[in-house]
Parts: sequence; C-alpha cells; structure tokens
Amino acid sequence: MAAVFRRLAYSYLIGAAEWPPTFRAPQDQTFRPAPSGNIYVHLPFCETFCPHCPYNKAHCESSLVDAYQGALIREIEDYRARQDVLPVHTLYFGGGTPTLTPQTIRAAIDAFRPLLTPNAEVAVEAYPSHATLAQLKELRAMGVNRLSLGIESLNPTLLKRLGRRYYPEEALSAMEHAKTSGFDMFDVNLILGIPGQSTEEFCAGVSACIEAGVDQISAYPLFTFDHTPAGRARHAGLFAKADDFSRLKMQRSVSRMTRAAGFRRTSVWSYTREDISAYTTVTRPDYVGFGAGAGSKAEGLAAFNTFSVSAYINATPYSTALIYQLSRRQQKADWLYWQVYNTRIDRQAYETQFGVPLERDFGMILNFLRMLGLLKRHGVEYVLTETGAIWVHRIQSLFSLNGIDAMWTACQKEPWPNAVAIA
Ligand code: SF4
Repeated sequence: MAAVFRRLAYSYLIGAAEWPPTFRAPQDQTFRPAPSGNIYVHLPFCETFCPHCPYNKAHCESSLVDAYQGALIREIEDYRARQDVLPVHTLYFGGGTPTLTPQTIRAAIDAFRPLLTPNAEVAVEAYPSHATLAQLKELRAMGVNRLSLGIESLNPTLLKRLGRRYYPEEALSAMEHAKTSGFDMFDVNLILGIPGQSTEEFCAGVSACIEAGVDQISAYPLFTFDHTPAGRARHAGLFAKADDFSRLKMQRSVSRMTRAAGFRRTSVWSYTREDISAYTTVTRPDYVGFGAGAGSKAEGLAAFNTFSVSAYINATPYSTALIYQLSRRQQKADWLYWQVYNTRIDRQAYETQFGVPLERDFGMILNFLRMLGLLKRHGVEYVLTETGAIWVHRIQSLFSLNGIDAMWTACQKEPWPNAVAIA
C-alpha cells in the first residue's frame, strides 16, 4: 500500500518516467563530485552497535582507525588540489562516533584549515560519555565551535534498551560540560517512541535538557529500519515501538515545552533558542561528503562513497560508488523537500534559483496543503503550521525512510553495487 502511494505521489510530483530513481556506479572510476562550501566528514567507528542504528559504522580497531585516517586525509588533499575548490563555510563531523577518534577530527580540520572561512561552522557529534570537560576543551582548541550530544534519553532503562553505554548522570554532566566549554551553540538529540517509554518520561527528559541550558533540542521518533537488528526484531514482534497516539503526544509536548522556554521550531524535529542559528547537517542545498558511505550533492548530482571501510581505504581518493543525476524537476522537488523539512519555504529564493515562481511549479500541492491547514502564507514565505510540521514529517518519512533503507541495505552488503533503485 505504502509503495503504491509512493509511486503515485512521485509520478504526480516528478513524473512517471523518472520512477524509480536509480543510483548507478559511475562509468569513470576516477569520478569525484563537484566542490561545495559545505563539507561533511564521516567517522564510522563505534565501541558497540546500538540495535536501532541505521548509520554506516565499523568496530573500532586501532589498525583500521589509522588506515582510515590516512585514506581520509588523502581524500581531502586530493580535493584541495582541485582548481575549482571553494572556501569552506561549514564543516560537519558525523558518524559512527566521531569523538571516539579525536585525533582524526584534528587531522581532518588541519587538512581543511587553508579552506576554512573565518566564521566557518565546525561541528561535531559527541557521545555523552566522551564529553568530559577535558575532551570538549580539546575539541574547542582544535577549532570546533558547534556540538551535538547524542543524549537520546535520560531514563536508565530506556538507554539500556537503545544499547547506549552511559547513565543519565553522565548525560547530564555532558550537557554541563558542553555549556561551559565555550561552544557557539550545542544541540542534544532525544528519541521519542522508544518501546516502554511514557510521555511523562519523555517530557522529563525535555525539561532536564532545557534546564541544562541547551541551545537546540532535536527530538526524533525512533526509526526501526528493516536492515537493523531493531527492524528485524520489530518484524518478529519482539520490539514494539510506542503507538502513533503516544508519539503524537510526545511530538506535541516537546513543541509546546520548547516554545514556552523561548525556542523556535527550525525543522520538523528541531527546536532552537531564538537568536541562535540552527544545528543542521545535510539540509543544505549542496555539500560534499568525505569518508566511507558519505553522501554528496552538488550541481544537481547526488553521490555516495563506498560504504565498506576497507574498500574505502584501498580505493581512496577514487571512492565514489554510486551517482544519480537529478533532472531539473527533481532538483526543484528536492529543494522544496528540504525547505519543507526546515518548515519554511522562501518563495523569493525559489524564483532566484529556478527562474520561475514557486506557484507555477507546485501551486496545486501548496494550495492543497493550505486547504488542509498544514501550511500558511506569510509574506514571501510559506510556513508550516504546528500540525503541518507533525504530519508533513510523517509523509516525508514514507519516502525518505524507504529510500534510506534501500540504499543502506544494498551498500552495506556490497562495496561497489552496480545500481540501487529507490522504489
Ligand atoms: S547510534 Fe551512534 S553510537 Fe550507536 S551504533 Fe549508531 S553510530 Fe554508533
């Protein structure tokens, strides 16, 4: 049923001829994506694997870590040697667990340093038990100015259920250290809809984060992708997520609580204090990814590096495994998708970028969303309503989660797939 809906909606919005979008191996093995001012670096190592985790990750073995760092720096140096390279405005480290390999963060920042603009955002995802005062000060000294803590929950039973290896006290200390280490801002991730989680428990976590002085709360629903142990357990009836009603209650609660504390909604699941720019990763119009499994999107072309850490080490700098050239219509829809994700659609920006009014391309769908009360027009912008932010996220999930599942499953099985269709 969901697959039929996806196909129909896609055919209406983009065109039946483009279905299903299919990534293919590049014909030229030395292919590299076009440059961008936004950089993502993937550091895949983890001490243990959380059962729900969909990300590309590898066990932390010292020989592998050293070889990976060498390959990553080769990839960055190869990029820097290009004639058309651009100044870097944002440099984000994700994983895996980047703070497990701080020496690699340092080496990568040093490798990018000649390209970094004076006000560049340098951001790192941190595991709570690594966020000691000493380690955060070290990150700060390297030039990291934004931090995201993967707190997930402040309930010991739920943390255990998620396979997290710290206690709530450590997570609280991590927030305290983040607050006093001099970052421009810090974000925390919380998960809602964990099996056995009550709305009260979730809200207690939100309150504690607000009290700890966080600048942004990103409250994600628990995803259980089919290719993860949690997804397989869900199919076997062993991992029951919270029901839709409870999740809706949690989404509404975090929205209400953060608004009351002076935060504004900056994406379908993020709430940021006023006057602070949001912590975002891949919501930018273009970015180039480095490392195993890193994605890129530049000049209308999407690409993924090989997911296999050993294949990446051996192939770098020629590590692009899959590419997909977006049609003009797909580029427009992709732009719209990320604007909707950020809950604001800038009509002027659309016209500047694509040379036609937004309404000429997407007028019917925008009117339909307005009729349903999911979208409002505010001057040069369309803004998602509270209900819109909750429901649009659910509709987006129908597309993006399926796409992530298809891509991740194929790429984790095969380092160099010939083609992956996102049906
Ligand atoms: S959720 Fe984070 S720490 Fe857990 S396995 Fe995934 S990448 Fe590693």
